[in-house]
Amino acid sequence: MSNTNAPTRPQPKPGVMDIDAYVPGKSTAPAGVKLHKLSSNENPLGPSPKAIAAAREVAGKLDIYPDGTARRLREALAEAHGLNAANIVCSNGSDEILGLLAQTYLSPGDEAIFTEHAFMVYKIYVKAAGGTPVIVKERDERADVDAILAAVTPRTKILFLANPNNPTGTYLPFDEIRRLHAGLPPHVLFVLDAAYAEFVRRNDYEAGIELVSSSDNVVMTRTFSKLGLGGARIGWMYAPLPIVDAINRMRGPFNVNAVAIEAGIAAVHDRAYLELSVTHNERWRTWLTEQFTALGLRVTPSVGNFLLVHFPEDGRHSAAAADAYLTERGYVLRAVTGYGFPNALRMSVGTEEANRGVIDALSEFLKS
Ligand SMILES: *Cc1c(COP(=O)(O)O)cnc(C)c1O
Repeated sequence: MSNTNAPTRPQPKPGVMDIDAYVPGKSTAPAGVKLHKLSSNENPLGPSPKAIAAAREVAGKLDIYPDGTARRLREALAEAHGLNAANIVCSNGSDEILGLLAQTYLSPGDEAIFTEHAFMVYKIYVKAAGGTPVIVKERDERADVDAILAAVTPRTKILFLANPNNPTGTYLPFDEIRRLHAGLPPHVLFVLDAAYAEFVRRNDYEAGIELVSSSDNVVMTRTFSKLGLGGARIGWMYAPLPIVDAINRMRGPFNVNAVAIEAGIAAVHDRAYLELSVTHNERWRTWLTEQFTALGLRVTPSVGNFLLVHFPEDGRHSAAAADAYLTERGYVLRAVTGYGFPNALRMSVGTEEANRGVIDALSEFLKS
């Protein structure tokens, strides 16, 4: 029975070892220095106090399995957004839904499109599903509708587009999204990743609800992570019923845990906290943009809760040098070389203390 050519240990299926694992934002400062974590676009105000109370409350009942359909959370979301709960699937962070969409709609060799500076997980999930990533150039650090449409082939099965995008913070106005959708063949699944939708206050922006409602091939994904519940892992999608049906067959039976369900419901109901978070973000994103610009650093115009800051090309004041300088002082930003920005850092909008601290430190750094 022995086969001399058989591997001597288990081998991952083809393609797995070609995946570059996701590298999360750093989360440590040197010993004795106060940490200001500005690397993962978390909420500087912390979780909603109502979500904290709900999570504490459910802690005593963790022996019981959660509702496998997260029905009450879907109903809370449906009510808050004016949707039908049957069109919502909740997930363990929206990352999970993105992965499930790739697993469900990509066969080996199928193509999936995303843009040059797109959110990194798309590539991971496309490769994990055996798909071929098709990476489209951006224009001025923004998705380019014509370039995306030109990349569509008969093998294209999915288009992933974050609107606004991370790490650039740029967005496409909704007439551009509609034009993009109108140019796609109907068999291409258009995944609109609206992770930062709550932060966008522009008249020409829409998260995608109406487009999902009026199409068979569009899904919108959302997350609680950027609004104070990154640790609870809660995401969801709004999608046509046939897509909901397919995803429900592929997902884990209890993919959203009991703490996530209860904290999520409480957070949905805490409108005042959402308002406070968005107002804080608006105020400090504007202030930070002005301050960085005054320091001579270019900032990509952002509608999210973070900023992409570009450093000079000279070696002394490079992004890597700034990153080291800031980290030493407890300000932990996100290096974005992997996103195609070797000379930029992404900074989450932080507390007033953190925001002022970063600007003070950088102004010293640039004089050094
Ligand atoms: C943060 C983020 C997500 C999802 O995060 P989860 O914590 O998995 O919900 C999705 N897309 C983009 C563009 C993001 O920045």
